[in-house]
Amino acid sequence: MSISAIVQDVYEEMRPHFGEGKVADYIPALARVPLDKFGIAVVTTDGETAFAGDALEPFSIQSVSKVFTLTLALGRVGSGLWKRVGREPSGDPFNSIVQLEHEHGIPRNPFINAGAIVTADVLLAGHQPRETLGEILQFMRYISQDDTVYMDEDVARSEQATGFRNAALANYMRGYGNITNPVEKTLGVYFHQCSIAMSCLQLAWAGQFLANGGKLPGNGPRIVSAERARRINALMLTCGHYDASGDFAFRVGLPGKSGVGGGIMAVAPGKASIAVWSPGLNEIGNSAAGTRALELFAKKTGWSVFG
Ligand code: GLU
Repeated sequence: MSISAIVQDVYEEMRPHFGEGKVADYIPALARVPLDKFGIAVVTTDGETAFAGDALEPFSIQSVSKVFTLTLALGRVGSGLWKRVGREPSGDPFNSIVQLEHEHGIPRNPFINAGAIVTADVLLAGHQPRETLGEILQFMRYISQDDTVYMDEDVARSEQATGFRNAALANYMRGYGNITNPVEKTLGVYFHQCSIAMSCLQLAWAGQFLANGGKLPGNGPRIVSAERARRINALMLTCGHYDASGDFAFRVGLPGKSGVGGGIMAVAPGKASIAVWSPGLNEIGNSAAGTRALELFAKKTGWSVFG
């Protein structure tokens, strides 16, 4: 069966589940997104694309952006990053502060909010926020091969006005010296990276370098070494879904990163990158129908990193 036939099948089988879950209402701009949206897109490592539903409609990628800022931060400071952020699953919610005290302001991993705020701080060092945001956006446009990718100011402002828990995390880590720039500037970078708007198709393209040993499709330009791509995938598998990372690995069997906008980017190494979007979240804060769609897709393709 071809990939596009599988994508169509998944879309049809998912219909009864459109609208499952609840939109993230703690960010007012996200609370307005219609619950019944659903999109899926796949890009294979030889550049073939397949998509269905609302796959061309931009949505707020939120925490999926953490994969890309991690990639940039590793490019900037290499393994020095791991002095400031850990590499272990947290087993706690995405915005939890409890571990930070025990672990002296070093977040468990780069995909919980605290870890992504440190990563944003690394990217900001020596720059003005505007320059760092320009670098992030340029990178997103390059890897998705699409210059229309943008940051949604409404979403960024909405989060800036209500992001008290993120402000608490940043200030707390600043107290341990693990945030080095003024807290409001680091948070400004973080909120803007989360506000990036992309469609499933753009996001599937952006994930290609992780599926294709560090390169854009086929023998395209190298973005990172094959080893770095493998390691980023390992972090997505173990930490990409917060305290449901184990469940996602069990159900889907592929590295993936979710965001509270309802998007999930997943990677089948050597085969394809996949993006799904359905804004309704489960109780952990991951897309309910999105996770189900990836589970179905993995089952139909037989793709899994576990053999
Ligand atoms: N911008 C969101 C926050 O910081 C990201 C959370 C997520 O997507 O999981 O709360």
